[in-house]
Amino acid sequence: MSYLSVDQARERILSHFQPVTTEALPLEGCSHRVLAEDIVAANDLPPFDNSSMDGFAVRAEDVEDATSEAPRSLRVIADIPAGKHPTISLETGQTARIMTGAEVPAGANAVVPVEETDFNDRDAGTPPPEEVRIFNAAKPGWNIRPRGMDILSGQLVLHKGRLLKPQELGLLAMLGIANVLVFRRPRVALFSSGDELLPPDAALEEGKIRDSNSFTLAALVEDAGAEVMRLGVARDNHDSVKALLERAVDLQVDLILSSAGVSVGAFDFVKQVIESNGSMDFWRVNMRPGKPVAFGHYNGIPFIGLPGNPVSAFVGFEVFVRPTLGKMSGLLNTARPAVRVRCAEQIDSDGRESYLRATVQTEDGTLVARLTGHQGSGNLHSLVQANALLIIPAGVKCVPAGQELQAWLI
Ligand code: AMP
Ligand code: MG
Repeated sequence: MSYLSVDQARERILSHFQPVTTEALPLEGCSHRVLAEDIVAANDLPPFDNSSMDGFAVRAEDVEDATSEAPRSLRVIADIPAGKHPTISLETGQTARIMTGAEVPAGANAVVPVEETDFNDRDAGTPPPEEVRIFNAAKPGWNIRPRGMDILSGQLVLHKGRLLKPQELGLLAMLGIANVLVFRRPRVALFSSGDELLPPDAALEEGKIRDSNSFTLAALVEDAGAEVMRLGVARDNHDSVKALLERAVDLQVDLILSSAGVSVGAFDFVKQVIESNGSMDFWRVNMRPGKPVAFGHYNGIPFIGLPGNPVSAFVGFEVFVRPTLGKMSGLLNTARPAVRVRCAEQIDSDGRESYLRATVQTEDGTLVARLTGHQGSGNLHSLVQANALLIIPAGVKCVPAGQELQAWLI
């Protein structure tokens, strides 16, 4: 068994994966999908000069001397609600009532907010006055959002490989893109393995525990943007493991993910079955928590075997599987952003790259990390109490209080 750094193991795994195929979807179905095409703006945004205020469109030179003591009176010649294209053109001494988002009429080069006029009646349905007195000077451009201020027609706005978050969906809608080419969601078959595992609704029996990994990992897979096929629990025998792997083949998944049963114990059948129709490697990764990561192929389908201990399975997912699913999903950038935190207390480590459960909170303007207690790899409760994984680099045995480290928020 070879010894790998976390980065080496991740690179090795990632090198086996490519983005899955693409599909065109209506915008409604694109939340948290990954864009599979570059998006070029077909129009300017905003598409026309428009008012950023409810008020009166003016020629700035008409009101350049206006004050509350010496207001300037203008004749109101039009009323321009949002959505109506104004056909008038302002001459000297004229104004038009205009609403936020409405197109600025020809001749106008500024908008005076309604609060800076003597027209205070803002109830819905109120007609505009015949004359309005302007209390403040305006300069050309004031309260006007010019056409093309945000985006120019022809501009490359979103790159292929971009995650479509809510704000990207809004932008696509603004650009008139109702159908989007996205990567389809990778399909992941998931199973747990072990004779000791019971479903959560079963009464405890002697020597048994409940299967938690199926639930944690399924949710993580979905959180990473993939579709999960829950295959249940493989028992510690050849036929049971084989039956689940064959189901994964039938389901034509893109990845098989399992937890436990991949050590080298007498009851760890997964390796044997995978090798009956594929190949499998174990890597001892220089990390904590974490046993060896198992990686292989079964009948041509990639397989990742995570450790059985619930925290090891979680950390293994975050370190290896999440970026893998990201790459399969077409994400351009699969690197996870870390935050810099200050350690509140001294932390001892054993020289392996460690992912420790911690709380991170702001104290006096900096992020401060504290471990959430017992760091045993079976202790899911201390993971639940954490909001971050604190990363101790390889080679470090002692982190003094006050030192800065990187953390992943979870
Ligand atoms: P193994 O890799 O099979 O040796 O399992 C390592 C440890 O993880 C053992 O204590 C198992 O009982 C535990 N374990 C394995 N699978 C699960 C699971 N699905 N849910 C909770 N604990 C598990
Ligand atoms: Mg086991």
